[in-house]
Amino acid sequence: MDNNTKKKKILIVEDEKNIAQMLAFNMTAAGYDYDIAYDGELGLDKALNIDFDLILLDIMLPKMDGFEVCRRIRAKKSTPIIIVTAREEEIDKILGLDLGADDYVTKPFSIKVLLARVKSNIRRAAGELVLDQSGMSSEQPGQSQTIKIRDLVIDCARYQVTIRGEAILLTKKEYELLLHLAKNPGKVFSREELLEEVWGYEGFYGDLNTVDVTVSRLRSKLEADSSKPEYLFTKRTMGYYIK
Ligand code: CA
Repeated sequence: MDNNTKKKKILIVEDEKNIAQMLAFNMTAAGYDYDIAYDGELGLDKALNIDFDLILLDIMLPKMDGFEVCRRIRAKKSTPIIIVTAREEEIDKILGLDLGADDYVTKPFSIKVLLARVKSNIRRAAGELVLDQSGMSSEQPGQSQTIKIRDLVIDCARYQVTIRGEAILLTKKEYELLLHLAKNPGKVFSREELLEEVWGYEGFYGDLNTVDVTVSRLRSKLEADSSKPEYLFTKRTMGYYIK
């Protein structure tokens, strides 16, 4: 380490060597350290045993696919995961499964967009670590309170959510999205607004599907029956809201 700020470390799980090398090159150029795993099993092993600041995860991988790798990492660790998908069907599958990934990009991707996502996800995860330790966020002075909507209770100080008396485990993004909606019950937020206010992406870097993915996951954890939501509603063509 040649300066005081420790370099952020990124795990690249990608079996295509030229893509992995290209990613590694660009991560280095952007000031990150990296490690590469060329198959799913090795990727999982590294992700669980080494602390990375972010994981770039391919889906089609030898030995264990990215879906399984993501699920197994998420069962144990909250390291931000960006899934790198090659096909539209994979996005549909990501939407349908509760993988716990924080974000995704589709191949072919622009390095500029990918780096913006990497930066944004690392920053977000780091910010929330501060929130974890102090129980308060300086950005949001109203954090140390409890929000109650019928059987949904959000304990902002403890960063804890219970539904129908049972605690549920949310990823950082799911929690932030829920909090954002629950602070303004009844207010409809467009996907663009949510992307900007919850994800903080700069303008066109954002992908609106990311919002849908997270809403879908949040709903599956929150609702007794996701097809008949009682808390997290969709306003046709407008956006999402909590009531
Ligand atoms: Ca692959």
